[in-house]
Amino acid sequence: MSVFETIHEDNFEKIIFCNDKRVGLKAIIGIHNTVLGPATGGCRMWSYKSETEALTDVTRLAKGMSYKASISKLTMGGGKSVIMGDASTKTPEMLARFGELVEELGGRYITAKDVGINSDDLKQMKTKTRHILGVAGEENSSGDPSPVTAWGVYNGMKACANAAFGSRSLKGKTIALQGLGSVNYYLAKHLDEEGAKLIGSDIDKGAAARAEKEFGMQIVDVNGIYDVDCDVFSPGALGAIINETTIPKLRCKIVAGAANNQLATTAAGDALFERGILYAPDYAINAGGLINIFHEREGYSHDRAWSHVAGIYDTVGDILARSVKDKTPEYIVADKISQERIDEAEEKLGRKP
Ligand code: NAD
Repeated sequence: MSVFETIHEDNFEKIIFCNDKRVGLKAIIGIHNTVLGPATGGCRMWSYKSETEALTDVTRLAKGMSYKASISKLTMGGGKSVIMGDASTKTPEMLARFGELVEELGGRYITAKDVGINSDDLKQMKTKTRHILGVAGEENSSGDPSPVTAWGVYNGMKACANAAFGSRSLKGKTIALQGLGSVNYYLAKHLDEEGAKLIGSDIDKGAAARAEKEFGMQIVDVNGIYDVDCDVFSPGALGAIINETTIPKLRCKIVAGAANNQLATTAAGDALFERGILYAPDYAINAGGLINIFHEREGYSHDRAWSHVAGIYDTVGDILARSVKDKTPEYIVADKISQERIDEAEEKLGRKP
């Protein structure tokens, strides 16, 4: 698709391109939607094979951020940015120039960290822009997003349990965790404290050993995690793991986890629904990090942010209830709710054609 077709197809407000040879910065900022608030989303630095690949990535991610902010009822819009190039080639000048670019947008886009960009890089950008969130170690910083993301997933999982079993309690339930890294480690802690039975897998033997030791977790082979007879399968490692190969293997009643882009295709979402497996849409259940960072805008308070994140219980509960009422797969319901909130705001602003 051409740039103009992309803008039209996905209703983008603006896509900004920068090619500053002086500092070697090739960047794209995608502002998908700002009716709910400033477009917010991290900056990714990646060696894209082509400009088209970079454009596809930034637009897909920016639109995803609009939906994530909307389903979470935040006064935030969706945006994202990419810097084209290997992360090892970044320089302070390049990052400062990117900061200038963000500043020129006057707050319509707020940047943050993503793959290839760390907190020190954000500090370089911050020398030129105020429109930046998630800078670690600063006074108003919301800190490491993994524990709070896990807290949101835990609450969303309870909403699923309530819908499937008539009780939000996870005591005695069997949870299969794919990946035992940053988020799933904290998630396992909550589940263990509540008395759930944990089974997990990780390609990293150290991460698996830590979970086995701390939580008495049963560790299974990475390919064996799909077959585990369990109440909840919780993806917390990779995307696209719900697909035509894995769906027939699943022996769970619920899929609820932190990983981004869990459904390989929309058909995978339909297949889960047809098999009667409840699915907590990924961008709704894993929004804890975004909600947390949102609180930096108002002066960060840990208690306020964490209590807000616990509201993922209601967000997921509402999606599941509407899915039953409308006899529609959860992923479609989540997109509809997100789009409806954006449409209502657009109508109020008189922006709807
Ligand atoms: P992480 O890198 O700390 O942990 C991922 C773990 O998965 C690692 O231990 C890795 O060894 C393991 N893994 C990789 N391939 C595997 C496989 N085939 N089978 C089993 N384990 C495998 O990442 P994280 O921060 O915990 O994030 C986990 C997922 O949640 C990612 O998809 C991420 O995009 C998503 N997510 C994270 C956050 C956050 O705040 N960190 C927020 C939203 C979404």
